[in-house]
Amino acid sequence: MSEEIAVVPGDGIGAEVVPVAVDVLDAVGDFSFVHADAGDAVAAETDDPLPEETREAAAAADATLFGAAGETAADVVLPLRSAVDSFVNVRPARTYPGVDALQPDTDLVFLRENTEGVYAGHEATLADGVTTTTRVVTREASARLAEFACDYAPEGFTVAHKANVMRETDGLFKQTVEDVAEGNDVPTEDALMDALAMHLVQSPEDYDVVVCPNLAGDVLSDLSAGLVGGLGLLPSANLGPERGLFEPVHGSAPDIAGEGVANPAATVLSAAMLLEFLGHDDEGQRVRSAVETVLAEGPRTPDVGGEASTKEMRDALLAQLG
Ligand code: ATP
Ligand code: MG
Repeated sequence: MSEEIAVVPGDGIGAEVVPVAVDVLDAVGDFSFVHADAGDAVAAETDDPLPEETREAAAAADATLFGAAGETAADVVLPLRSAVDSFVNVRPARTYPGVDALQPDTDLVFLRENTEGVYAGHEATLADGVTTTTRVVTREASARLAEFACDYAPEGFTVAHKANVMRETDGLFKQTVEDVAEGNDVPTEDALMDALAMHLVQSPEDYDVVVCPNLAGDVLSDLSAGLVGGLGLLPSANLGPERGLFEPVHGSAPDIAGEGVANPAATVLSAAMLLEFLGHDDEGQRVRSAVETVLAEGPRTPDVGGEASTKEMRDALLAQLG
């Protein structure tokens, strides 16, 4: 039986790049695709940016490929991530031959806590002009992330935190991650997240795998997109114990949506992570190699220094895989 992949292209360039990744998956494997809607466009018709059938499709599929949602992103992405019970967001950021980068020696992976922190959703308006949020950090979620990090990076990792200021929340995060790592004989170093941001810009080659609380992981991985040549190159995987949701780090990019020039690499690389998650390591590697070859030789979209369209890049990727 072929594995089932839910496909949720969403808004803006999501709808332009996800079909490319589907064609790539089709070229290397035998999958059955379940197409589902989410985002601004479906909300305009139904008032619901995440229809129940889409949530169910993601919860039932072996893996989900998601594009982007515009204004409704918070109401789409967070519930989709919880539909697959994902507790870690894996965000690799590396450079590619052929693509100009601010820091050509960057090869980082951020392991971002994916369920709590300031994104736990406990926002409130206490009075006009007075708002709060509650930052949630639990030992359970921190330990689950740390166990994953130990498997992912047995040679060691960096723990990003701000435990000197957020003593309770990041104190618990840092202590828990370090305890789990020690129990697994995995070496760690810790880094204050603000100083780490500076060091990543100056010397990213000093870092490899960085384990982060939710917001820090979001910000530091976008920062690293700037180091490697743009958001069009960054894939991500939201992983749960049994399922995963795979999506580019970029959003719907309304400024270029509809022009047919979106870079499909981030989404195609997300599809490579999906393949590896499902155990298809060889196919994942073939897809990565195809992306590397096309980025090195062209055709390339304008964001990475070329003049090609999304379709020209798609055709070149499929030719590599043919
Ligand atoms: P959203 O609110 O949906 O996140 P955004 O305006 O923040 O949308 P992003 O998708 O986050 O836009 O991207 C920021 C900018 O980076 C875009 O405006 C676009 O110029 C560029 N960009 C992002 N992804 C790509 C891509 N795949 N190809 C080309 N350019 C991209
Ligand atoms: Mg954005």
